[in-house]
Order: sequence, then C-alpha cells, then structure tokens
Amino acid sequence: MTAKIINGTEIAAKKRIEIAEEVQKLKSSGVTPGLAVILVGNNHASRTYVKNKQKACNELGMHSVLIELPESISESELLFKIEELNGDQSIHGILVQLPIPKHIDEKIVIESISPLKDVDGFHPINIGRMMTGQDAFLPCTPFGIMVLLEETGIPVAGKHVVVVGRSNIVGKPAGQLFLNQHATVTYCHSRTSDLKAHTTQADILVSAVGIANFINAEHIKEGAVVIDVGMNRNNAGKLCGDVAFDEVSMKAGFITPVPKGVGPMTITMLMYNTLKSAKNTLQS
Ligand code: NDP
Repeated sequence: MTAKIINGTEIAAKKRIEIAEEVQKLKSSGVTPGLAVILVGNNHASRTYVKNKQKACNELGMHSVLIELPESISESELLFKIEELNGDQSIHGILVQLPIPKHIDEKIVIESISPLKDVDGFHPINIGRMMTGQDAFLPCTPFGIMVLLEETGIPVAGKHVVVVGRSNIVGKPAGQLFLNQHATVTYCHSRTSDLKAHTTQADILVSAVGIANFINAEHIKEGAVVIDVGMNRNNAGKLCGDVAFDEVSMKAGFITPVPKGVGPMTITMLMYNTLKSAKNTLQS
C-alpha cells in the first residue's frame, strides 16, 4: 500500500481563508483580533517561530504585538508585563514563547496569563475544561491534528489511537482530544516496554517524540493513519519528523509529511484561538 499524503499546507491554507473572512466580519463589528507574543532572550528558533506567528496575524488581518524582553529580565518584571496585557482590551491572545530562561518559573508564567486570553491552551483552567469536555482554548498542535483528520474525512470514534510522547503541550492533550472524540487511547513514552507491541495495534499512530527515524515500518499496522508531529534535523541538517517517511508511507494508509504536515496547522489553530477569544468579547 502507498499511503495517501495528508497535506497540512493545503488544509491550513483553507482554514486560514475561513479565519480571514471571520476576522473581516468581526472588524466590521468594531473588534480587531489582537495577539501579543512575548519573546524573552535571543533563542534563534524561538525568534523564527515568533516571526511566523506575526506574519500569520498580518496576513489574516489581525493586530499583532511583539514584546521583546532581555534574557536577564526578572520573573516579577515579566509577570508585570503579562498583567498589563491581561488588562489591554486590544489584545485577545497572549503567548509567551517557550522556552523561557531557567531563572523564571514557567508554570507561574503560564498561570499568570488570563485563561480568557490563553490562546496556547496551556493554562490549567483551559486544560481542565478540555479534560471535562467543556468549551476551552485547545492546545494548538493537538487541535491541528484533529482538524487534519476531520478535513481528510478520517473517522476517530471507536478507533484505537496510540500516542507516542506525553508532553503537556503535545502528547497528553492529543490523547485527550482523541478520547473526547470517542477513540480508545494508549499513551507510550520513554518508559514504555515493548513499544512496537503497542504501536502495531494502532489504527491511528501519533508520534511526538523528537527523534528522527524513530518510527519505522515495523512499528505500524498495514493501512494505519500515521501522524508525525516531530520536528527534527537529519544528518544533512534537513527538517524531518519522527517517522521514516519512505518506508512507512509504503505500509500506512495515510501519513503526514514533515514539513507540510502538522507544522502549518499549529500556527493556524493559534490564529483560530485568537479569533475565538476576540469573538468571545462580543458575547460578554
Ligand atoms: P518533549 O521532549 O517534551 O516530549 C517528548 C516525549 O517523547 C516525552 O514524553 C518522552 O517520554 C517521549 N520519548 C522520548 N524518548 C522516547 C522513547 N525512546 N520511546 C518512547 N517515547 C519517548 O517534546 P514535545 O512533546 O514538546 O515535542 C515532540 C516533538 O514534536 C519535537 O520534535 C518537537 O519539535 C515537535 N513539535 C512539533 C510541533 C509542530 O507544530 N509540528 C509543535 C510542538 C512540538 P518521557 O515523558 O518518558 O520523557
């Protein structure tokens, strides 16, 4: 079998058109969705991610603010800045680009963002709401995975989903979103014994590990849907996922490539969440 490619770039482009239309409607009601991104220090990769988020905002007609703070900033100064943004009516989404310097407590920073503006969906209130099936800002990468499947017409209910990786931002919430949609979910991680015994049972396999070529053809069942979240560099320095694409795509039913798979969805769902937050202000 040769897998069908799930084209994240195309699906993201379609979603972005829908978002841009909604932004225009909202603007005619007097509200321009606004995203504030806080970048602490000078991490090269973070700077690129932040630029891409700003670019997406501009393309979709949203207001965006970049707040650059020095590596040496104290935790209390950062919290003060977040508090200002919590009260700023032109800002509907606040995002602190991770990682932040070690001397600042990431948990305290995340919890200082108003849950109403937590467009990354990392605040424990949004995580709790997601777990209990209430309306919430969903974490962007797992949310993007669900949209990819929906847009591709791949049903989730009743399927066995195996998620490899249990980070708070990808693996754990991804499994929860599948559970919310009535899948049976298995989580695997670095302490899982006999990984293949689990992954070969998966109707849908999600890999969020961060190791190139981690998942090969032996890890998957014939015809499985393979979602590759990994963003790694191969020996030649080229961007690649966790999945050995060439061999796995000969056995899988569907597969997301890297690049052009899950990646483009992450920023798209951030834009979606910012729009949602702005719309919420009209209802309150
Ligand atoms: P983390 O490093 O936080 O988590 C990695 C997970 O993989 C952990 O749960 C870890 O287990 C597990 N793991 C590590 N080694 C093994 C192993 N040998 N067997 C089984 N499980 C293992 O990474 P993130 O979740 O933040 O990101 C994962 C990948 O996704 C990265 O490549 C990242 O760059 C990418 N990413 C891509 C995004 C996108 O938009 N496409 C967005 C965010 C991330 P344990 O918990 O036991 O340590």
